[in-house]
Amino acid sequence: MSETSRTERPRPDACPGALHVHAAADGGLARVRVPGGELSAGQFRTLAEAAEQLGTGGLELTSRANVQVRGLGDGCENELAERLAAEGLLPSPTHERVRNIVASPYSGCDDGGLLDVLPLARELDTRLCGNPELAGLPGRFLFTVDDGRGDVDPLRADVGLVPVGADAVSLRLGGTDSGVLVRVRAAVHAAILAAEQFLVERAFQASSAWRLAELDSGPRRVADRVRARLAHDDVTAAAPTSLGADPVPAQPRFGVVGRRDERVTVAAGAPLGRLSREQVSIMTRASEAAGSRLRLTPWRTVVVPGLSEGEVEWWTSELDTHGLIVDPSSGWAGVTACTGHPGCAKALADVRGDAARALRHASSPTGGTLPVHWVGCERRCGRPRGRVVEVLATEAGYEVGLDDEVWASRVDADRVSAAMEAARRTM
Ligand code: SF4
Repeated sequence: MSETSRTERPRPDACPGALHVHAAADGGLARVRVPGGELSAGQFRTLAEAAEQLGTGGLELTSRANVQVRGLGDGCENELAERLAAEGLLPSPTHERVRNIVASPYSGCDDGGLLDVLPLARELDTRLCGNPELAGLPGRFLFTVDDGRGDVDPLRADVGLVPVGADAVSLRLGGTDSGVLVRVRAAVHAAILAAEQFLVERAFQASSAWRLAELDSGPRRVADRVRARLAHDDVTAAAPTSLGADPVPAQPRFGVVGRRDERVTVAAGAPLGRLSREQVSIMTRASEAAGSRLRLTPWRTVVVPGLSEGEVEWWTSELDTHGLIVDPSSGWAGVTACTGHPGCAKALADVRGDAARALRHASSPTGGTLPVHWVGCERRCGRPRGRVVEVLATEAGYEVGLDDEVWASRVDADRVSAAMEAARRTM
């Protein structure tokens, strides 16, 4: 396990929540946590209705598989909270900002993982909300529950669980292997212990850290504390399967993403991470034909599991007709953007509007190419890990860059496409 050095934070984290609404340039911004990414069709519909009736309309999907409502008017916070609570989306007001649990979104939908981890994610959420001390976790503290395929483990969570054998789950701390292996029945207990011990170690170091890896030797010290508190028969000595020192970030998938027991799973992408009410409506209708459950992913896609073979083509075509990404070769696939103008006061451009214009100018589908991220200023919010073509707004126009090389500078939105497309095709 790598040693880390201490990072100090001058203030408590100010992550928005459903009750802790952030005052953005375009009005109130509420972030609703969706543990494990699991939503019912009714919950998804309620969120879209609330966004339209109380905010500026449309839902934003986040890189932690949560949902944001923007542009809330004055006094709308209470109405939003009441609607969320009535749909079971606010089970613990004291813990609403700390329910940051990302689970492998295709788990149980195909044969790709070692374990269906959605039940573990649900149990983790229940125990997290039932633990008063853990309401004190920072809003940025992240749990991941990977099903063994290694798709959410690269998010480098503060506390991660990854099955590595028939009855062995590896505890990951600060994105590194802690060396602690527990039985499946003790996995959630180990994750809760790790979160508790993060708070204990943070107090011991008199630190204001938001993330476990920001503590002085945080992963090692918390691992030692967890190991000392686990019961002998919670721990297993099974040999772990290595996921690699620095797992590669998974890419979004679109269209049919899984088949199991004659049921098909489809994933649809939200262009630039935003969904209109009509797009949410078609997704909820598709899910109602297949068990009424949906899953949000950290790649800003929505997964509809359980469709029958006979209807999958029709639903996929409907999702496509509504402007959702179901074809991996779509020019919209792999393109992300920060909030930009008018939602962010620091933005030098309306990056989302300009990205949409540039994509309409793009000459051909760009499947199989590098991701692109548009940002409205040098803070570079939301930039994905790994190799990314960056389109940066500056005072003088846009700059297109990749790997520290500038491909175009001082260009307007209409002239970004050529440089962006060329950079995306670089191997
Ligand atoms: S990168 Fe800049 S413009 Fe974009 S959201 Fe962050 S601060 Fe705002």
